[in-house]
Parts: sequence; structure tokens; C-alpha cells
Amino acid sequence: MVIKAADEHGEAAEGKFRGLLESAPDGVVIVDQAGLMQIVNRQTEVLFGYPREELLGQPVEMLLPERFRERHVHHRVEYQGDPHTRPMGTGLELFGLRRDGSEFPLEISLSPMTSDNSDVLIIGNIRDITARKIADERLRAVAVDLARSNAELEQFAYIASHDLQEPLRMVASYTQLLARRYQGKLGPDADEFIAFAVDGARRMQELINDLLTYSRVGTRGLELQAVDIGQVVDMVVSDLAASIAETDASVTHDALPTLRGDPIQLRQLFQNLIANGIKFHRRDVTPLVHVSAAQHGGTWTFRVADNGIGIEPQYLERIFALFQRLHNRADYPGTGIGLAICKKIVERHGGEIRVESEPGRGTTFVVTLPIDPVRPGERPA
Ligand code: ADP
Repeated sequence: MVIKAADEHGEAAEGKFRGLLESAPDGVVIVDQAGLMQIVNRQTEVLFGYPREELLGQPVEMLLPERFRERHVHHRVEYQGDPHTRPMGTGLELFGLRRDGSEFPLEISLSPMTSDNSDVLIIGNIRDITARKIADERLRAVAVDLARSNAELEQFAYIASHDLQEPLRMVASYTQLLARRYQGKLGPDADEFIAFAVDGARRMQELINDLLTYSRVGTRGLELQAVDIGQVVDMVVSDLAASIAETDASVTHDALPTLRGDPIQLRQLFQNLIANGIKFHRRDVTPLVHVSAAQHGGTWTFRVADNGIGIEPQYLERIFALFQRLHNRADYPGTGIGLAICKKIVERHGGEIRVESEPGRGTTFVVTLPIDPVRPGERPA
């Protein structure tokens, strides 16, 4: 016995220490300078399947698979030279060897302890992590499965929307033809029905086009290159000239940076956000949309702020989902896909998008993008 009880008080303390040791949920092994096990607790017997008589006085390496033993002796001696509390083998997969020859994954934390005769002893706390490994493995499998089914879904959306375009074009052009040729000739009911059909086909075309854009964001690789966001915003403003003129809106921006990204996708992002800022304006004020940027470490934070109708707090998350809209088409036209596209573009660039809003006063979309996104598996420019 290395830890001696000096007096009655010491004896009581040792009794407590033993009691704690025995009830500890982890295996506890105390090893002397020669690497021999001096104390083991009940849980160690359970974990490794040995009665303690067979462990005490034996080299601790007997609890390791053969392939780790030599290295362990080396590490043990090194640790004795600089003992401090730490986990063992950080980043390494550690295994224990049971009496019956089977192995199990474990985690060990080490701490030094000085005995009465000033020998440095090492306390090893050993935890069986089989259950955690199984759970991790399951989680990984689920994540892989999810990624695969997401990719399949994206592919499906792409093919479906792509293939639907052609027949839909036919329906749209022939209903438009009917409208032109037979307007006023088949009676007022027919005029109305044809107008509904024309409108339905046009709306479906919008939906399909947006869906196609959405699935393209995911299925195409990013074409990373330097993109001048100031120029992007200027181009967007000129693309939106008609709706800007119609609403008498003004779109302004601060000096904006150049960052690495996909030029087409970043243009689409700012186009959707600025167009929404104009579209969801209040009738009583001149619509204003302002784009600003600030750098924080390795990221740029862009803010696209408007003075429009705003969004109630309970909808702030929902609007980024596909097809989610808060208004009917008669008030504000749209497909409910724009922000889902924005979210996907931002996430593909390794960034984040969120929204802040004061209902009735305005909305600000906040986009954070890394200055230099590098995504694994994606082709750099
Ligand atoms: P869409 O514009 O086609 O309806 P989006 O995905 O772009 O689809 O937007 C989803 C919903 O989020 C919109 O229908 C609207 O209710 C709300 N929204 C988006 N941008 C703004 C904004 N700038 N101000 C107020 N509401 C907005």
C-alpha cells in the first residue's frame, strides 16, 4: 500500500477516499513510477473483466492492446517527467483490452499524485465510450443520408422544373393566342376564362423559373472570383430601373468592398434583396433602400435596409423557407422563392443571412460573408 494512513484522522480520510473510488462511475487506476498498478477500483474490474488481484502489481500496459504497449511505456515515462492533469492521447483513438481479448474504445484523463514517500503516482480515469462512438457513428450515417437525399431532391427539382418548362411554354403560348384571336368573339364568360388560363400559365412559368434558379444554386459549383459588390449593386439598380421608376424609389449605397465569390450568385442575392426592399414599400413614404458594409475580422457584414412595411417578429425565420409568403398575390406579387435562393447562395459562400425588422417602419437584411470563402470540394477560380 503506497498511500499510508498516518493517524486516526488519516485513516478516516483514507476510508472516504476508498469509498469514493469504489463508487466512481469511471474506472480509476493508480500507477506507480515503474508503471505497476497500485490501486484499481471496482469499475476497473467491470470494464476490463479482471478481478483486482490479477491487476495489482502488474504493468498497466496489460490493459492495452499489444500494438499500443511499447508506445505507452514511452509516453508514461515522459509524463512522469512533466506530470500535469490532462486528457491522454488527445485526437487519438484509444482502446482498452479486456481479459477475454476483446477491445473497447475509451477515454482517459491523467492526473499526478504524490505519495507519502514523495513518489509521483499517476491516476488514470478511464471511461468506456462505446455508446458514444455508436451514437456518433449513427449521427454521421444520418448526416450522410440527409446530404444524399437533399442532393437527390435538388436534382429532382432541377429536372422537374427543367422538363416542365417546355410543355408549359406550349400551354402559355396557345392560351395567349386564344386570347388574342378570340377576344370578344366567344362571349364575356369565355373572355374571362381565357384570361384566367393566361394568368395561371404565366404564374406557373414564374414559379418554374424561380424553382429552376433555386435548384441551380445548389447543383452548380461555385465560380469563385473577385467580385466588386459596389458594381454588382449598380448593375442591380439598372436592372430594376422600371420598378424603381414606377415606385419613385431611391436605392443608395456606401462604398462597398470587393470579395471572392460567385459573381452571378452574388448579383442574384443583391437583386432579390433590393427588389424586395422596393416591392414591400409603404404607400405613405418614398421607398428608400440603402446598402452598407462593415468589416469584422475575416468577414464582411452587408446590410440591405428599407423603410417599407416591415415584418412581424413571428415571421422572421419563416420567410427564408421555400414558398413562404406573408401576403397574397393581389397585394404583392411573387413566388416566395426569392429569400430561399438568397439563403442558399449565402450558405454556399460560407456565410449567414438574417433579418431585422420593425413592423410598419422597415426591414434590414443582414448578410455576413467570409472575405475569402474556401469550401471543400469546390473549384476555386
Ligand atoms: P416573394 O418576394 O416572391 O414573395 P421572397 O422569398 O423574396 O418571396 O420573400 C418571402 C416573404 O418575405 C415575402 O412574401 C414578404 O412577405 C416577406 N419579405 C421579404 N422581403 C421583405 C421586405 N423587404 N419587407 C417586408 N417583407 C418582406
